[in-house]
Amino acid sequence: MDQITPPLVSVRNCRQAYHKDSSADLVVLDDVNLTLHEGEIVALLGRSGSGKSTLLRIVAGLLKPTSGEVNWRGKPLKGPAPGVAMVFQSFALFPWLTVQENVELGLEALRVGKDDREERSEEAIDLIGLGGYDGAYPKELSGGMRQRVGLARALVVHPDLLLMDEPFSALDVLTAETLRTDLIDLWMDGKLPVKSILIVTHNIEEAVLMADRILVFSSNPGRVAHELKVPFTHPRNRFDPAFRQMVDDIYGIMTRRKAPEVHAAAAPPNPFGHALHPVGTNLMAGLLETLRGQPYNGRADLPALAAALQFEVDELLPLGETLSMLGFALLEEGDILITETGRHFAEAETEDRKEIFAEALRTHVPLITEIRSVIDQRSNHRAAAVRFRDQLEDHMSPEYAEETLRTVIAWGRYAEIFEYDEEAQQFGLEEEDEEEHEA
Ligand code: ADP
Ligand code: MG
Repeated sequence: MDQITPPLVSVRNCRQAYHKDSSADLVVLDDVNLTLHEGEIVALLGRSGSGKSTLLRIVAGLLKPTSGEVNWRGKPLKGPAPGVAMVFQSFALFPWLTVQENVELGLEALRVGKDDREERSEEAIDLIGLGGYDGAYPKELSGGMRQRVGLARALVVHPDLLLMDEPFSALDVLTAETLRTDLIDLWMDGKLPVKSILIVTHNIEEAVLMADRILVFSSNPGRVAHELKVPFTHPRNRFDPAFRQMVDDIYGIMTRRKAPEVHAAAAPPNPFGHALHPVGTNLMAGLLETLRGQPYNGRADLPALAAALQFEVDELLPLGETLSMLGFALLEEGDILITETGRHFAEAETEDRKEIFAEALRTHVPLITEIRSVIDQRSNHRAAAVRFRDQLEDHMSPEYAEETLRTVIAWGRYAEIFEYDEEAQQFGLEEEDEEEHEA
């Protein structure tokens, strides 16, 4: 017998840079190391944009890293990994195929005979709790059931490694929880035809609920910054004080303040260099008001605050980060603290709030200033959105570019820095501003 079984997957010193014609390459992953063994569930926990999906594609062999090694059972990976199946946030089911036919698609590449195909897909469908829906079409199913079909399609191939990319984040809270616990029950009963699971998430509680091991990912560039073993047995209880403590500790790790970045004095920040979280202004105002009032008096523990507000924990971090980016709050070791400006905003009336917000945008969001100055330079005071989208895409994926543009539009409108014409997809000025210009 062999003494040393190589791990299922090992990633060594991986670096991924996206090449950009118009600017320096975007380094998304740097020096990433990760090992997966048979029999474990590992969660990769990180903020959005930290490179989690990129790393998952590298592990699956769908993307060859710029440098570094990926080994499967000790052998270098060349091309798509055999024995891996993926589940995504929202599944592309074929609307004209039944549940059973959609699941069978998973087997197509494996050249399994028709009878076998039927038997295995029925098995997977029953396992995942869709028995009786074999002949249904996707449009007849709820979101949760569709996600189960996606899961069945992944399981039907009996993969060694099941890769899940934020598989529950598009579902409502209760449905997501049911799917999580069903999956864990099957895993604990040894019924899942997989050897190991790697789940990518930005939800801290989800990681603590499901994983044996958590890899906390840092951003810019992404790398595995911390590794934690989860000591709890299944089924886990979210309200167990030790569970809460672990969630709290991870919040602390994820909000630990980095040493301030040193900017070369001559280089102004690139207005297109950073993605914005899609956080609404009402939500920001609501959180600042809550934070300022009783019982928080300006400072709150993030997980406690999430629980009190009945927020999904993963909604709170982007919100906190955005408030901190705008100078309205500070994040520190798992706590959020209101600043003077934040307090000022919370106490102001609507019109004053808009002004304070506009000031914060001008100071901290160079993209807003850039858009406004382009509009001002144009004789017709209009500018097409597409040009800004293109420039954002030089620095981020098209999805993040679109999200950032939507966010900047919402913020700029609220602050009355510009208007946006949905139909023409153009930025413009409010009438008053335009008259001032003419004068
Ligand atoms: P996550 O899954 O953690 O949200 P991603 O792996 O999707 O992160 O993206 C990490 C970073 O890489 C983001 O800044 C994203 O904009 C950028 N990125 C991803 N794919 C591409 C691509 N094909 N071209 C350019 N940038 C990309
Ligand atoms: Mg992702």
